[in-house]
Amino acid sequence: MKSIAVTGGKGGTGKSTVATALAVELGKKHKVLLADMDVDCPNDHLLLGIKRENLKEVFQRIPKIDSGKCTSCGKCSKVCKQNALVSIKKKEPIFIPAQCNGCGSCKIVCPANAISWDEKKIGKIYRGSGHGIDFISGELKINEPLSELVVGAVKGEISKIKAGYDFIILDSSAGTHCDVISALKGCDLALAVTEPTPLGVHDLGLILELLEILEVPSDVILNRFEEGREQLVVEKLKESGKKISAKIPYSREIMESYSKGIPIRDKSIEKIAEMVKA
Ligand code: SF4
Ligand code: SF4
Repeated sequence: MKSIAVTGGKGGTGKSTVATALAVELGKKHKVLLADMDVDCPNDHLLLGIKRENLKEVFQRIPKIDSGKCTSCGKCSKVCKQNALVSIKKKEPIFIPAQCNGCGSCKIVCPANAISWDEKKIGKIYRGSGHGIDFISGELKINEPLSELVVGAVKGEISKIKAGYDFIILDSSAGTHCDVISALKGCDLALAVTEPTPLGVHDLGLILELLEILEVPSDVILNRFEEGREQLVVEKLKESGKKISAKIPYSREIMESYSKGIPIRDKSIEKIAEMVKA
C-alpha cells in the first residue's frame, strides 16, 4: 500500500480536483481509497457525485466536575490555558465546553479527584464508493475548533482497512495548521498543488518547508498552467532545488468537467498517476 497526500499551502489551487482525478485514474487498474481530510469543508464526494453513508461519530473528551467532591480550590482554572474553566470565589468552576481542547491538565492537578471524563460529539466519519474507488471522509461539526481530532479519527479508520488497498489518496485541507500536519504525517509521498500566482507561490514555499520538517518526500504539481506563466513557480523552486513534476493546463475542457462534477481527464493526470506508481 502506498499513501499519497494531495496538499497545497493555499486554498483554491485545485487540490481536490487533482486528488479526485488521480484517485479515479489509479482506480482503473488498482484498489484505491480516497480520503477527504478537509474536515472543515469536505467536498470530494460532491466533485465525484458519491453518496456518503454514515460510518461513525467522532467524540472529544471533556472534563466533568463532581460537585460533591469539588472543594472550590480553583487549581483547575489556573492551569487551563484555554480559559475553559472559570473560577468564582468559593464556588465550583464554570466550564465553557467550546473552549476546551481535552488536554487533561485540570484532571491532573485536581487535589480532590473531582474531575472525570465526559464526551461531546464533534464530527462524523462517512464512507462511500463510486467511479471504481472507495471513499472515506471526515466532517467537523459547525462551531467546533478541533479539526485535527476528526482528521486523526479518519486516519484511525484508514489504518484498520489500509491493507486492502494499493493506493490511499489523502486530500488535505489548505494551510499548514494542525489538521494538515495530522493528515500529512507518515505519508509515503505528498503532491503539493500550486498555481502561478504570487500568493500560490508564497504558500507553496510554506507547505514544502512543512513537508521537509515532516520528512515526507514531495513533488510539485502546477495547476492552471499557461505557457509563459510558470516562471514565478520555477524561480521559487530554485530555493529548494525542486522542479515542477507535472503541469495541469488551464483549459476549457477541464473547467467544464469541474463545473459538472465530473473527474477531469487529461494527459497530465495520467502522467501524475504514472509518477506516483514509480
Ligand atoms: S481539559 Fe484542558 S482545556 Fe479542557 S478544561 Fe481541562 S485544562 Fe482546560
Ligand atoms: S481543582 Fe478540583 S477541587 Fe479544585 S476547583 Fe477544580 S474541580 Fe474543584
